[in-house]
Amino acid sequence: MRKNARVQTGATKTWRVSGVEAGVLMPASELRALLLRDAGIDPGAVRGLRMVKKSLDARVRAGARRLRFVLQADIVVDAAYRSQALGVALRSGRVQEAPAAAALVRERVQSTCRQQHAVVVGAGPAGLFAALVLARNGVRVTLLERGDAVEARSSPLVRFQRTGVLDPESNLLYGEGGAGTYSDGKIYTRVDDPLEVPILEELVACGAPPEIVYDARAHIGTDKLHLVLPALRKRMQAEGVDFRFRCRVDDLVVRDGRVLAVQTTQGELECDLVLMAPGHSARDTFEMLMQRGVVVEPKPFQLGVRVEHPQELIDQARHGQGSEAALLGAASYGLVSKSAGDLAAAHSFCMCPGGRIVASVSEAGFLCTNGMSNSTHSSRWANAALVTTFTPDDFGHEPLAGIEFQRLYEQRFHVAGGGTYAAPAQRVSDFLARRASSGALPSSYRFGTVSARLDELLPERVVGALGRALPFWDNVIPGFASAEGTLVGVETRSACPVRLPRDRSTYRAAGFTNLLPIGEGAGWAGGIMSAALDGARAAVAWLEQGP
Ligand SMILES: Cc1cc2nc3c(=O)[nH]c(=O)nc-3n(C[C@H](O)[C@H](O)[C@H](O)COP(=O)(O)OP(=O)(O)OC[C@H]3O[C@@H](n4cnc5c(N)ncnc54)[C@H](O)[C@@H]3O)c2cc1C
Repeated sequence: MRKNARVQTGATKTWRVSGVEAGVLMPASELRALLLRDAGIDPGAVRGLRMVKKSLDARVRAGARRLRFVLQADIVVDAAYRSQALGVALRSGRVQEAPAAAALVRERVQSTCRQQHAVVVGAGPAGLFAALVLARNGVRVTLLERGDAVEARSSPLVRFQRTGVLDPESNLLYGEGGAGTYSDGKIYTRVDDPLEVPILEELVACGAPPEIVYDARAHIGTDKLHLVLPALRKRMQAEGVDFRFRCRVDDLVVRDGRVLAVQTTQGELECDLVLMAPGHSARDTFEMLMQRGVVVEPKPFQLGVRVEHPQELIDQARHGQGSEAALLGAASYGLVSKSAGDLAAAHSFCMCPGGRIVASVSEAGFLCTNGMSNSTHSSRWANAALVTTFTPDDFGHEPLAGIEFQRLYEQRFHVAGGGTYAAPAQRVSDFLARRASSGALPSSYRFGTVSARLDELLPERVVGALGRALPFWDNVIPGFASAEGTLVGVETRSACPVRLPRDRSTYRAAGFTNLLPIGEGAGWAGGIMSAALDGARAAVAWLEQGP
């Protein structure tokens, strides 16, 4: 099956068939026949077929689990093509006209944009895709990144793991690819944005697996991201993007709401446009922006812990046993618990099947956990964040109050871990019984774990929310709340605690004519794809509306 056949233009029409159910062992040829049958389209009429979405349905129904894929596909035919079966499928709603695909090269670019120099701050997904869209449409772009190029990122990270000495400029959060470079590389979003497919296709062109374009649980993995990012850089450099690494933006030269230049660790750089994509952890950069008159507001964010289980326990609960289950690889989960009375809601986040827990640290003396995996999900551990939401009513309405709240818990956990980046940990069963865990607490976390009373270290709101949620989640995944699960903390950076207000259509920061805050650090995105989309959309808006 030509899964990624481009939808053709000209005298063609693209029909989208949805909700097609297929067995997980079904061969590709049968899958194609099934999609065409459900769409009511004769195989001989097909000029292209592209899978749009593939998700696994592993629910237990009437006491039995039947694993199957639920598929959505775009089928290209001659514009004049009709059949009785297609008519029936259209009337049933199973088939609809596919939405028009967007492109990163835009048709309505204001010519004045092409004489401008754009500076993009931050080479995470938001900055990279903003820079790519601008350059591809003829704008001169300089991309400034405080951390290292991806090939050089591992050396300060390995040093950190060996010695505990953190490089504050190049670490797990800072460097090419941004915070998501050492991650599971989950790139599914819950938005339906026409720029999503072109962005994914760009990643595929740089070596990411083709399935990411349609797999509902698509992920790239840390190992493959390290191959994709240099390839992406080479493509962008060929299109004129000037990448500068170890180049931190420390100040803005502002006159009458216009940024004239950025001051960096490598000197001053004049610019016509600045896209700020610093991510959620550039705390010094937020302070600098405030000093230069950029409005920074506190916003809700999540705080909690990582939970880790043997992957086998999760696989058993989600996929069961047998040949079909074996074919599906490491299982994942997403868990939610609603609020009840005084007890807050809680949910799982950033689940990493076959992964490991990492120290997501950008400031020495502050401990924060997160998770990553390789493309094959090959470790024997499954981890996820378990978090609850805090709002400015909980931590204060000052612009940076959320950051201070994060720091409070990051420092508390660092001290409780012995100041070595070892992580305080407690078995789930002991957390629920409110007692310390005895014996070793094995974990994938490389700095090691230290037994501690997480039920005393965490905010009472998290303890209450998880106290209610964990037994409930144990019903969904048997063993989840047992001694087989370990809580490791603290998880504070799953979302940005600030927002930089901006105009909805121009993306301009309040009070500025040429400053566009984008991505997670601006408070307008969360996750790799959503940050990439935010950067790309902002660039498109500027290109189409003009300077
Ligand atoms: C360990 C980990 C695992 C994750 N896993 C996933 C996942 O599987 N799927 C997912 O969707 N999301 C994941 N996330 C979240 C995801 O990485 C972020 O949502 C995303 O990277 C945000 O993109 P961004 O471009 O807005 O910011 P970032 O990726 O944070 O990039 C910002 C960049 O700006 C640079 N910068 C900051 N200040 C300056 C300055 N003053 N001058 C120059 N450069 C500066 C930083 O060095 C950084 O490289 C994970 C995050 C972590 C930490």
